[in-house]
Amino acid sequence: MKNILESLDLEAVNPGTWLGAESIEDSNASIIESINPATGEVIGSVRSTTAAEYEKVVTTARASFAQWRNIPAPLRGNAIRLIGNALRDHREALGSLVTMEMGKIKAEGIGEVQEMIDIADFAVGQSRMMYGNTMHSERPLHRMYEQWHPLGIVGTISAFNFPVAVYSWNAFIAAICGNVNIWKPSPKAPLCGVAVQKIVNKALADEGLPPVFFLINDGSNELAQQFVNDKRIDLISFTGSCAVGKKVAANVASRMGKFLLELGGNNAIIVDEHANFDLVIPAIVFGAVGTAGQRCTSTRRILVHCSRFDDLKSALVKAYGQIRIGDPLADDTLMGPVIDEAAMAGVESSLAAVRDAGGEVLCGGERIAGAGNFITPAIAVAENDWEIVQTETFGPVLYLIPFDTLDDAIAMQNGVVQGLSSAIFTDNLQNAEYFLSQSGSDCGIANVNIGTSGAEIGGAFGGEKETGGGREAGSDSWKAYMRRQTNTINWGKDLPLAQGINFDL
Ligand code: NAD
Repeated sequence: MKNILESLDLEAVNPGTWLGAESIEDSNASIIESINPATGEVIGSVRSTTAAEYEKVVTTARASFAQWRNIPAPLRGNAIRLIGNALRDHREALGSLVTMEMGKIKAEGIGEVQEMIDIADFAVGQSRMMYGNTMHSERPLHRMYEQWHPLGIVGTISAFNFPVAVYSWNAFIAAICGNVNIWKPSPKAPLCGVAVQKIVNKALADEGLPPVFFLINDGSNELAQQFVNDKRIDLISFTGSCAVGKKVAANVASRMGKFLLELGGNNAIIVDEHANFDLVIPAIVFGAVGTAGQRCTSTRRILVHCSRFDDLKSALVKAYGQIRIGDPLADDTLMGPVIDEAAMAGVESSLAAVRDAGGEVLCGGERIAGAGNFITPAIAVAENDWEIVQTETFGPVLYLIPFDTLDDAIAMQNGVVQGLSSAIFTDNLQNAEYFLSQSGSDCGIANVNIGTSGAEIGGAFGGEKETGGGREAGSDSWKAYMRRQTNTINWGKDLPLAQGINFDL
């Protein structure tokens, strides 16, 4: 542990307020402790940002924006290339810190840092491709086009479960667009925030570039609310639960600010009568048990054709019996701890609600004795319209629900308030295409013969309904970080007015 912290230049108590590569620190500010969910030990701590420090961050960020926006976009992209290289140098150590602080297994921790590197590469290319359209004007000797300008300060609020990757999806794309970024990480993963801040900003400071990336920390969410309500923050990009996201959206909208929301999911896989179990079983187990069920895209519901229900049930219970649970840093572990005591209690109360509703818990939901928040992953037979099934339990709980027709399955798949990720497993072409058609899945992500969990950065990531409607990462998501301007230039000697109006003066 000491080696990992040292190689990331982390101390026992770390400043939590950063203006690029420079930190400020009030020694009276409260401390946020980072707890290892696998051991219960304190890894280190980070100081909260005070109100005075926050003011300094915002005014410095605003001044920095005035410089950064004038650096040509391909040169801004080059700065992100340097950051991608710095992340490559720290991939192993930062991935291990993600594992220590959040509890996901090491392959997933390193995979998260790889996502940062991938989005950095994507941002470099995108920095040369922020195209606007040209249109034909109705008027002679007029030229009409649209262009994209940066917004200003992008505020990124991130969830505990992706403590580094989600930040980079926002910050790197926002930066090539010409924005500066202020990040408030989750108080459950504050050391990841400081470690990333140091890596990213050293790469820029070494090149003499202005500070572009700022960091604030808040253990109580009071400053976070002030941040959301601050008119000087041009875009709030919020990743977290639906409950908090709804409040954030209402508050930002009331000041006519922009927001981008990446909220909870309640993701289902449809297993039809033509599904290949060789693909289905690993996809479900990875989707439901990976990251201990703490991904927004985790598989939470299996809608299975009644002819295959019994076979799937016994195959899954058998597979769950083989999952190696333990130290997430160990190479052969498949499932680590959940984040805290509340997450363990959430799994237990969900299973109690299933039993109360008349469902059957087939396996799991037992705490593993000893240090750390370890609980066995659970499978339960349930019905789709039960309140507990409609709710996102952020842990390893999977519901098995039978269906008769594909239309019934799609109605159940869509019959939840969230709309993030979905999948069908089938070898039937018509069923696959129907699921992807306008009559099929209503989610932001719909897959065939691939599970719900995870996503490649090249596509636009996000979901519909109470998942918030935002899109991040690839495709044309960059547009969320820019404002569009339509320009008309008259290069003639007359002033033809629109609608044929003649203002004879
Ligand atoms: P959370 O909503 O408790 O917290 C998310 C962030 O919001 C944290 O940084 C927290 O400190 C901050 N926050 C809390 N109250 C706030 C307030 N009133 N104003 C402003 N900020 C506030 O979520 P969590 O437990 O950290 O993460 C799990 C949730 O996030 C799940 O619902 C999961 O599905 C969702 N999530 C969604 C995505 C996605 O891309 N759709 C990705 C990761 C996580």
